[in-house]
Order: sequence, then structure tokens, then C-alpha cells
Amino acid sequence: MTAAELVPVIGLEVHCRLKTASKLFSACPLKNPGAAANSATDPYTWALPGTLPTVNAEAVALAVRLAAALGCEVAEESGWDRKHYFYPDLPKGYQISQHARPLARGGAIEVPDPEVGPWATRTVALQRLHLEEDAAKVHAGALLDYNRAGAPLVEIVTAPVIRSAAEAARVLRALRLLLLRLGVSDATMEDGSLRCDVNVSLQRRACSAPGVRCEIKNLNSFNFIERAVTAEVERQEALLAAGVPVTPVTLRYDSARAAVQVMRVKETELEYRWLPEPDLPPLRVDPAAAAAARASLPELPERTRMRYCVLGLTPLEASTLVDEPVLGDWFDAALDSLGPRGPALARRLCKWLTVELIGRVPPAQLASAKVVPAALAELVRMLECGEVSAPAAKQILDLLVEEGGVPGGIAAREGLVLEDDDAALTAAIVSVLRGYPRQVAQYRAGKAELWGYLIGRVMQVLRGRADPQRVHKLLVVALHSPPPGDDTI
Ligand code: ADP
Ligand code: MG
Repeated sequence: MTAAELVPVIGLEVHCRLKTASKLFSACPLKNPGAAANSATDPYTWALPGTLPTVNAEAVALAVRLAAALGCEVAEESGWDRKHYFYPDLPKGYQISQHARPLARGGAIEVPDPEVGPWATRTVALQRLHLEEDAAKVHAGALLDYNRAGAPLVEIVTAPVIRSAAEAARVLRALRLLLLRLGVSDATMEDGSLRCDVNVSLQRRACSAPGVRCEIKNLNSFNFIERAVTAEVERQEALLAAGVPVTPVTLRYDSARAAVQVMRVKETELEYRWLPEPDLPPLRVDPAAAAAARASLPELPERTRMRYCVLGLTPLEASTLVDEPVLGDWFDAALDSLGPRGPALARRLCKWLTVELIGRVPPAQLASAKVVPAALAELVRMLECGEVSAPAAKQILDLLVEEGGVPGGIAAREGLVLEDDDAALTAAIVSVLRGYPRQVAQYRAGKAELWGYLIGRVMQVLRGRADPQRVHKLLVVALHSPPPGDDTI
């Protein structure tokens, strides 16, 4: 079989840590990932005898909100199961998860599909979504930090429908944006609040029988996902080309060597000794609560992207706003205060936000910045209407960032408002031409290069506070058709 006859088939298992105040099965407060090791533990985390789990309602509510956004069917009753494994990252000796009866099934996520077109999306089907507890962090040198043990995780399992390494990374990016938009998770790969296992198999193009899948564990960067899948596809292709069958293994990605490494033969279900959790009743979610979660969803990222498309933004501009939710929210607030607007104004606002403002205030500081969305919107409107020049607008933005306030007030105070009255501009032009009669005469006699000299003098008199194009037009009029009877210029 040649590589050309084989297509990659990929499915993701994504874990994200929910943003709750306490752990999944006890009141132990959760701390930031940077907190001192083992400062967020309690008797339940240590599995001291006599401790029992109670389900954190906040975690269930966040998981239901996520399931609603993904269009999953939320089960009225789901169950808890013990997954046993012998490893010190969970003192109980088992993890409580939802194996047989997950919180939700089905659903899908919309993912950009740039191979089809800049605005195209593809629907990636999901299999299930369930709750489970996280395990301790094992540091190199076998130091254990139990702050994370028992933290609430949601696992989202996609169907095996992803077709390339790049698409796998796009699915995870889309999920991350959704988690951020919903406010259910910090969804940060660097701190482990978003992690991903990737299942890869190769399938013969013409045949529908699935290939043998291997699983790459715990990928924690978008780039690594892409590279790991690429490396795994190559590994399986090489095996099959050599006539060696693929065996189901669990792998890890070694980023230093940019290669996948077999860790172990994949565990079978039996090894986990799954059994129903006897210390917890089934988890009940009132259908009314699931309906309320669906009704209270915000605009989801792919819908936002489409709105920006309709607004006239380019795909790149839309991505800049959608991929950085703080920017998108700021843009929307500014847009609201602009009122009715055409695509040109929306694009100008986007540029002033993503280039000029972000050049002065990093996105993380926007929420507490002195400059507010309505002020930027007003500045962009003034620029669009020719009330201020672009260099003046930049000066005004500097001051808005420094002191807040409204752009109109700053423009007036700093003398940055453009002269708008044609009569006043013409008066300034006439006074300049009177001051340079020799140059005017030479220009009129055909010395065209004096044009620049004359317009320079006019702009000097106006101290830059005029739209150069407008001055240009009025100067043409003044030089080429002097008012009848006026022989002084
Ligand atoms: P396990 O816990 O054993 O990994 P799960 O049911 O949790 O099993 O996860 C199965 C994952 O494997 C899903 O993401 C699914 O899409 C993926 N998968 C199933 N079959 C294949 C296949 N033939 N090729 C690639 N991925 C697959
Ligand atoms: Mg798995």
C-alpha cells in the first residue's frame, strides 16, 4: 500500500479545567497554577479514611453551559464511575469519571476550513462530553503537587472525522475560543487548563474499514499537536510501507526531537477495572436547567466571525478580533457607540483598534485602560468626517491613553481641529498669495515647480490644521481663476 492510498483519520480527547472556586468533589478551594505546591489540599484530596465525595454544583453548571453551546444532548441522569490505575497522582488509587453514562452526548463544533475558503467552516461531530477529576502534577524528580488533584475537568471527545494535522490544531483552537467566550475555563495550554490527547489511524481511501488507532497523550501546545500528528502519520505510513501492521500503542511527543515515542501498549478497558462509583448518587440535570443554559448563551465565536464578514471586514481583520476575545468585545462596544456605519468606517475602527491602540495598550490592559471604546469610536468618526487629520488623531489617541476624556475636547484644547470652513481657508490662501507676489507671477507664467513652495506656505499659515486635499483644491481655484476685478494677487 502506498502512502497516497492512505488517509489520516483523527479524533481528539480534549480536557479542560473548569473555572470553579473549589474542587469537583470537595469544598477545597482551587488555586492558581502558580500557587505554592500542596497549598490547596484537604482531607478528601489526600483520600484520608472516612472522606466522601460531594458533587460541586458550580462545575456541573459550567459543564452544562458548555454542552449547550456545543449542541450536545444533556442527559437528565448520568453516572459516576471509578477508573483504577496505580500511580501516585491520585491518592485514592482511582479517578472518578463518567464512563458508562456521560453528562452529554452528540453535538458538534464549527471550525474554520481555510482550505475551502476564507470564510468557510466545517462541522466536526462530537461523541460525548463528561465530567471527571484531575490528577496531581508530577514534577521531574518525582515531586508531587496535589493542588490540581480533584480539580474539575470536562472531557470533550470528537468523532474520528478530523482529516489532517492542521485541522486537528484548528479544532482545538476553535474549542479554546468557545471556552473563553463562555467563561467556563481559562483554557490555557501553558498551564495545563487545556490539554489534548490525539488518536490517529490511517485508512485506505477506498475502503471504509477503520485502521488501527494509536494515541498521543497530553499535548499542550497547538504547534506540538500539528507536529505530533504529522510525525505519527509518517511513523504509521513507514510501518505499513514495510509491511508491518500498526499495533495500538500510547505515545508521547518529544518536542526536542520532534518525534513520537511509544510509551506503552494501550491499556485495555479491563485493566482500569471500571466500576460504578458507590459513594455518589446518579447526577441529575433538570431539563429546565439545560434549556435555561441554552437560552443564556452568548454569541459564539464562529457566529461573530460571520457578523464581521457581513460588516465588511477582511478575513484577517475578523480573525484578529475573534481570536483575541478582549479585542472583539472592545470592537463591538466601540461599534455600538458609532451607530449606523458603512464597511469603510468599521474597517477603519478595526485598524485603529488593532494597530494604533494595541500599539499603545496591550490587550490584557485594555479593560482597565483610561481610553474607552466610545472615545476611540468618536475619534475614528472625526477622522472619517475630516474633522482631524491622521497625524492629529494619533496625537489625540496618545492623550486619550494617558488621561482618558473625549477626543473632541482634547482636539479643541490642543488646537488639532481642522479648519472646515472654505471661506476661512480661502482667506488664508489669499493672504499667503498676497505675501508672495513674485512667486505667484512666476507660477502663473509657467514655473510649475513653485506649486509645492506655495502650498507649503499655505499649510504653514494654517499650522497643519487643514485637510491638504481641500487646501490643494482651493489653491488651484485661487491661482487659476482669480476673482474677477481682483488684480492684487
Ligand atoms: P479511549 O479512552 O480508549 O481513548 P475514547 O472513547 O475515550 O477511548 O476515545 C476514543 C477517541 O478515539 C475519540 O476521539 C475517537 O474519535 C477516536 N477514534 C476512534 N476510532 C478512531 C480511529 N479509527 N482513528 C482515529 N481515531 C479514532
Ligand atoms: Mg483516550
